[in-house]
Amino acid sequence: SVGVVSLDYRGRLHTGSSTSGIFMKAKGRLGDAPLPGAGFYCDNHIAGVTTTGLGEDLMKGMLPFKITQLIADGLTPQEACDKAVYPFIDDLYHRSGHIGAVSVVAMDKNGEWGVATNVDFTFVVATDSLKPTTFLAKRAAGNTTT
Ligand code: ASP
Repeated sequence: SVGVVSLDYRGRLHTGSSTSGIFMKAKGRLGDAPLPGAGFYCDNHIAGVTTTGLGEDLMKGMLPFKITQLIADGLTPQEACDKAVYPFIDDLYHRSGHIGAVSVVAMDKNGEWGVATNVDFTFVVATDSLKPTTFLAKRAAGNTTT
């Protein structure tokens, strides 16, 4: 998907999520992108989070909702992404023997951000002091994907 999280000049968070669909998808398939909590989540006072990857797996994770809760508990966006995503990936892989791509980006109300992924995942960050810059998040060692 193309997902976006923004913090506006009034300090309000916004999250957008759009699916590119998936190859050979069943007619009527929704995927994770339109599902709050699974494909995106935004609490104006805490954080915004969006996902990309295999919707059938992302829908089992509720990662945007979990990450927002973890940030509310005091974790940084990066800590929250790591804590929510990597155990989920490992668990799903061990239970099903397979996991698709799973990537998340999160930003909190201070504009701090974090990313977690099991693939090599490019994303762009722009702030007042940083012109739009492309980053490559490498999949963390030990995670498995196909
Ligand atoms: N997550 C989307 C889906 O499964 C695919 C995408 O990332 O565009 O529908």
